[in-house]
Amino acid sequence: PHEHLADDCIFCKIIRKEIPSFKLVETEKSYAFMDIEPLSEGHSLVIPKYHAEFMHQVPDDYLAEVMPIAKRIAAAGGFAQYNVLQNNGPLANQAVPHVHFHVIPKPNKELGLG
Ligand code: 5GP
Ligand code: ZN
Repeated sequence: PHEHLADDCIFCKIIRKEIPSFKLVETEKSYAFMDIEPLSEGHSLVIPKYHAEFMHQVPDDYLAEVMPIAKRIAAAGGFAQYNVLQNNGPLANQAVPHVHFHVIPKPNKELGLG
């Protein structure tokens, strides 16, 4: 199941559990975990179990498992409002060169909603 992972990639190591992470959901071709430096409480990442720097390099069957997981996290988290972000390349603010989708809650403290 890990034949498309890279030896030296931090997110591939998280998928292989060589680096610990706070896991939210795992499917055959995807993995979701909490961001280590959250932009807001509940910030998580959803990644394909396929090492690629850019989204357009990820095969459809891997990508197809990613967005339903982002949806499940937003629904289960009860987020009132949130961003789903995905950066491609350093010019687009991508720091980790393994495709990942951010799910970032936008808490509304005035309404008491997370
Ligand atoms: P990017 O800027 O590449 O779109 O976002 C990379 C994200 O990965 C950042 O939000 C950063 O906090 C997160 N991140 C980087 N290294 C680790 C790690 O080792 N574990 C976890 N859980 N998140 C990480
Ligand atoms: Zn990787």
